[in-house]
Amino acid sequence: MIRGPRLVLLGKQGAGKGTQAARLSERYGIAHVATGDLFRAAAAAGTPAGIEAERYMNRGDLVPDNLVFQIVAERFAEGGPLEHGFVLDGFPRTRRQAEKLEAALETHPLDLVINLDVPTEIVLDRLAGRRVCESCGTTYHVSAPPKNDWICDVCGGRVVQREDDTEEAVLRRLELYDEETVPIIDFYRKLGKLVVVDGVGESDDVFARLVAQVEQRVQPLQT
Ligand code: ADP
Repeated sequence: MIRGPRLVLLGKQGAGKGTQAARLSERYGIAHVATGDLFRAAAAAGTPAGIEAERYMNRGDLVPDNLVFQIVAERFAEGGPLEHGFVLDGFPRTRRQAEKLEAALETHPLDLVINLDVPTEIVLDRLAGRRVCESCGTTYHVSAPPKNDWICDVCGGRVVQREDDTEEAVLRRLELYDEETVPIIDFYRKLGKLVVVDGVGESDDVFARLVAQVEQRVQPLQT
């Protein structure tokens, strides 16, 4: 049986992981598992895990591992991602999470880990101007807003600034990225699973680079 790829997308905040992961998910018919989106949905729904996670997220801190593992396990338990393929966006982001994931995926190993590389000056500008639909998560920039007065072009939801896109929280998140997430780039490099893709430029061009890597490196896609 043909299956979709099992991918991880790494990259700084504002590197474009969310946008590109959604496009990869559509292209290959695979699940898009975005831990940040899962936490924001849980917080909006008022679940205990969501309310606890929100305290950390709004400060730009990492959510404790037990909550992260819980939300990822729930998403995988919905059925499908393991067999049909997935793209992980925002997970793993610590060495411990990466090790735990490797162990959990024993019989369904990752095909490829992509580091979407964008310099810090560029992500700072993207994040300062970033606006997000609170219903469907589509992102915009103040320089390219939705057509009608901050109403989402895709779903009609309200387009707002994320609580953690304040300058203080952004700096904290980038600091944690360097401390906690950069070491896992090396972890995957040593496993021979890492590829670096230039994330600067038009979304379509970045997407074409990603697809080229997936198609070159993930063959054949059999279960
Ligand atoms: P960003 O990558 O820009 O920080 P996300 O939407 O991926 O945005 O994540 C938002 C927040 O959710 C993070 O700042 C963190 O608080 C929490 N979070 C998401 N994924 C994880 C994770 N794997 N481990 C710990 N915290 C996480």
